Amino acid sequence: MTGSGPSSSRSRPCDAAPLASDVRRRQKARMTAHVLPAWLPLSIAVWLVQMVAYHGFALWFEYLDRTGALTDYKMRPVDRWTYFQVLPRVLFNQVFILLPAMALVQWLGLAYAGPARIGLAMFVIGLVGMMIGHDIVQYVSHAWILHKPTLMRALGHSVHHTTTASRAVSACYMSVADFVLEIACPYLLPLLAVTAIGSAGADLRFHFFAVTAGAFGGLYEHSGYDFSVKLARSDNRLLRFVAGLVSSKAHSEHHGRGNVSFSDGFGSSNICDTIFKTRWDLVAQRERRRGRPADGQIA
Ligand SMILES: [Zn+2]
Ligand SMILES: [Zn+2]
Repeated sequence: MTGSGPSSSRSRPCDAAPLASDVRRRQKARMTAHVLPAWLPLSIAVWLVQMVAYHGFALWFEYLDRTGALTDYKMRPVDRWTYFQVLPRVLFNQVFILLPAMALVQWLGLAYAGPARIGLAMFVIGLVGMMIGHDIVQYVSHAWILHKPTLMRALGHSVHHTTTASRAVSACYMSVADFVLEIACPYLLPLLAVTAIGSAGADLRFHFFAVTAGAFGGLYEHSGYDFSVKLARSDNRLLRFVAGLVSSKAHSEHHGRGNVSFSDGFGSSNICDTIFKTRWDLVAQRERRRGRPADGQIA
């Protein structure tokens, strides 16, 4: 027994150094190892998944438009812009802005870096952080910059507002400045923040889930479909609550009125539009109280 105590072993101090370095090496390998080939940076892999999700969902909604398969849920007539008129600008933004921006933040070591696996708690914290962060960044850029009357045309947000949120693929039909402020920043800035606190890291599951959910949300809000309409007529309060979460009405109200719902809607925390009372249902109440008709057609 005398040889088993930490202070009684002569060989232990000499063995400890290689042992510790071995543990560190294995920890480092666990931190960085994932299943991607060496030539494929994580940011590029995430972008590819994002593209598959975005264009897969876009084609599915386009199929619904052309076949009328879910016509009971189509709330608005389909946009006058066709799928192929919208597609080139969407692809330009995704290839020449989003892809380099994602590669840049990885190269700087600010995102897509860190542990290859994060725990469940960090997974949830990261998603909630991304949701709230997206809400805040998008509200600031959309409500206070892009919709500022003097900047509306200068930054080209009017381009996006030539669509009526009734053609899914039009979610990324916007000017370069608009795409940077409304798509790239609200995704990447919160991602940098959650990475800094130990979430996201290089975990493929986290990144793939985040971009797939984000792509679906954006496309759904611009699809003209609202899958909540039947739930909303239910007598069950819980189902009506779920309908509120599933609804795509907020962004269609934004396209229709221009002065409401800058970042609330499907998949949003709705914090900013609630605080600043620009949520579509709150503005309607305010306007009714004042006894004047709804304004807010965009400039
Ligand atoms: Zn829109
Ligand atoms: Zn807008």
